[in-house]
Amino acid sequence: MTRPGDAPKAADAAFIPTRLIFLALVAGVVLGLAANSFAGGHPHLVWIVRNVAEPVGQVWLRMLFMVVVPLIFSTMVLGVAQLGQLHRLGPILGKTLALFLVGTALAATLGLVLVNTVRPGAGLPPAVTEQVLAEYRGAAEKTVAGFAGFGLTTFINIVPRNPLDAAARGDFLALIFFALVFGAALARLPAEKARPLSDVLEAVAEVMVRIIGFVMKLAPLGVGMLVFATASRFGLGLLRALALYVIVVVAGLCVHLFGTISVLVRVLARESPVRFFRSVWVIMITAFSTSSSNATLPTSLRVSETTLGIPRSVSGFVLPLGATANMHGTALFEGVTVLFLAQVFGVSLSLADQIVVLVLAVITAIGAAGVPAGSIPLLALVLQTVNVPAQGIALILGVDRLLDMCRTTLNVIGDVATALCIARSEKLVEIRAGR
Ligand code: ASP
Repeated sequence: MTRPGDAPKAADAAFIPTRLIFLALVAGVVLGLAANSFAGGHPHLVWIVRNVAEPVGQVWLRMLFMVVVPLIFSTMVLGVAQLGQLHRLGPILGKTLALFLVGTALAATLGLVLVNTVRPGAGLPPAVTEQVLAEYRGAAEKTVAGFAGFGLTTFINIVPRNPLDAAARGDFLALIFFALVFGAALARLPAEKARPLSDVLEAVAEVMVRIIGFVMKLAPLGVGMLVFATASRFGLGLLRALALYVIVVVAGLCVHLFGTISVLVRVLARESPVRFFRSVWVIMITAFSTSSSNATLPTSLRVSETTLGIPRSVSGFVLPLGATANMHGTALFEGVTVLFLAQVFGVSLSLADQIVVLVLAVITAIGAAGVPAGSIPLLALVLQTVNVPAQGIALILGVDRLLDMCRTTLNVIGDVATALCIARSEKLVEIRAGR
């Protein structure tokens, strides 16, 4: 495994301007918050955000999204085919899904314990609740109304009728399913028949990696603009009103990120957590600024391979799957939010109700799309199931972008940690050590 202190390879050093990205993140937050408090709502600021910061940030984000479909398909097929040839596909799939499930359930449980202990919704003044609900009611209704629903059909739809259509609609779970079957079938072809296609896919994956290299060079600009646009719009007043709720969510995410994930990395991957976090912080910044597991996938695939030494056969398989199906941060956020809103509306939830919330938080975190606010419509479903008014979502919508940035960071790091654990348990990291 390449140690963070090692001299970086020339290509990697050119790949990510890490310090600049971090500086851009800090500058974006500081300037955005300063602009919000000194010139919030001023027409000049609105103009700058709308015509400069947002378009530049969106172009960068789109460039990341642009590579996701070919990247998922090529890396997933190659990964599955290689693991299939080694007869490791079944065991690795089993271990991956088990780790996803355990990590997500632990996160949701931690959230529930914290929210029951702190009870952030119990002391919220009714006047504040009324005012915020009135302000965000329209936005909440729009978010929930645009949602296609969640149930048995959601799982049936994982099998695409037409893989091209699934890719075009950005239905990544369906695309992943097709890639999985495709890779498993490819592994069964005689070597001379499989090779031409593997070579093409290998080249496609390489081209995507090069494109990510270009895109990441623009990351300081993209990250800075995205964060500036968000911070300058952010309602600091609302943050103050919901401070305790926000603190519970963020503290829970931090405890899981630096506590549970560290234990996972130390025990299952036998890796120093400090070294791990030093290796993945570019992934964390990308996830934080894009609020999207899918948009972060190109960066996490690249960094996992170059800095953590995870072979592409494992990362190409675990990370795309994790980007849609493994969301520790989202499960924790959902658990806290459902109980917070129950406290605000005076709905008491029994232990049995809370177990339902836990199970649903895990299931909906698996089903949520890896895009900004992807879990919000599913949150409505969990609320309805335990009889908490779903329009309560309006209460948290104003601070959701901040929470989304934080939970997405944990979602993605949960995927990378899982990939490292799998690679280590298969003794695959060492194979690439020192490369
Ligand atoms: N934005 C999150 C992600 O992409 C999903 C969510 O919780 O809204 O991982």
